[in-house]
Amino acid sequence: MRAEVITVGDELITGLVVDSNSAYLGRRLTELGFRVVRMTSVGDGPEEIRIALQQVSSDVAVVTGGLGPTPDDRTKEVFAEVVGRRLVLDEEVLEGIRKRFAHRGMEMPRSNVRQATVPEGSQVLPNRWGTAPGLHVKADGRHFFLLPGVPREMRGIFEESVVPILRKLSGRAINFVLLRTTGISESALCEKLSDLDLDKVAFLPGLEGVDVRVMWEEGEDPTQLIEEIRRRAGQFVYAEGEEGMEEVVGRLLKRRGWRIATAESCTGGLVGHRITEVPGSSDYFERGVVAYSNRAKVELLGVPEELIRRHGAVSPQVAKAMAEGVRERTGVEVGLGVTGIAGPTGGTPEKPVGLVYIGVATPEEVRVKEFRFVGERSQIKFRASQAALDMVRRAVS
Ligand code: ATP
Ligand code: MG
Repeated sequence: MRAEVITVGDELITGLVVDSNSAYLGRRLTELGFRVVRMTSVGDGPEEIRIALQQVSSDVAVVTGGLGPTPDDRTKEVFAEVVGRRLVLDEEVLEGIRKRFAHRGMEMPRSNVRQATVPEGSQVLPNRWGTAPGLHVKADGRHFFLLPGVPREMRGIFEESVVPILRKLSGRAINFVLLRTTGISESALCEKLSDLDLDKVAFLPGLEGVDVRVMWEEGEDPTQLIEEIRRRAGQFVYAEGEEGMEEVVGRLLKRRGWRIATAESCTGGLVGHRITEVPGSSDYFERGVVAYSNRAKVELLGVPEELIRRHGAVSPQVAKAMAEGVRERTGVEVGLGVTGIAGPTGGTPEKPVGLVYIGVATPEEVRVKEFRFVGERSQIKFRASQAALDMVRRAVS
């Protein structure tokens, strides 16, 4: 079955807001077994909305935005006109909106009454995240879904009310599993898997590494293929599913009952930031030191001045001393040291931009590794943070 997406809003076509709704819906509709054939974005103007709606040629159309109470929210009115339905007041929806306001101790503004009108014969999809409900309308042999533009509301209604309807329509769900790898290039990974049937396998390279997506349809059993990919990719696989590296590292530290302290130079605290993005990280994150200057490395981490003078601040010796220094001074189990050249300036022939040394010290051992990252400054910093977390993962697992 074919599906399409229409997003409405001046903010989208002027570039003020990135159209994340289309991306989300495109992915979900594909997963549900639909062939997504078109995405359209239009401004708030009724004429543009009308043309977009008239051009719908798929079995399913999901429309987001323009269901609000303000005069520039016109999607529902234009839609009713295009499919030739009257707008009627839905008492239940009105009551729901009134209650929402009462709950906040406010009286409902008159303009909100408009949100309680629905095209005749539509199915109301409750909105537990906001005021405007979603609508499901069958017209001209097609299924239209009108959803609010606010991403959280759109996703909530879509998952709760639209997905069950779409599952019945499609009768052919596509399943995915994501194996997330890091520290190995796309081509090296492909080589390892080259003799497998990769028809249903997609390689998605990004800053975090290469995600391997395995797809299968209802009735197929992907277990063997997934196991084989897992086995061949080995230690490069850090997560299955949507889990991020920082969550994996947190989980492993917790399991061991170990705490971590970080000493960062070129990443400027990015590793600490990523670790603390995970709720509950106070259980295992002790502190992060941003030791950018040589003086900070000496004063805060106890790196011997002589070591910096002899080998340079960007050296395996200093990365090791940073990891050991922060570990000893804080009395935690895991110490991490990151030092490198993020660029674009500061590189030399012997020590080019992108050269990064990472040290990890645990009660069991100290490891130091050299990396050569490519990209712009922020990309090098991120790649370094990912490699640092990956070294912690390997040391702790
Ligand atoms: P409400 O009932 O809350 O007024 P609405 O259906 O009228 O919702 P809009 O007014 O079009 O929705 O959008 C509300 C906000 O949601 C916008 O300010 C925008 O930031 C965000 N938004 C709308 N459409 C999209 C989209 N396609 N992708 C990402 N964000 C969006
Ligand atoms: Mg709008």
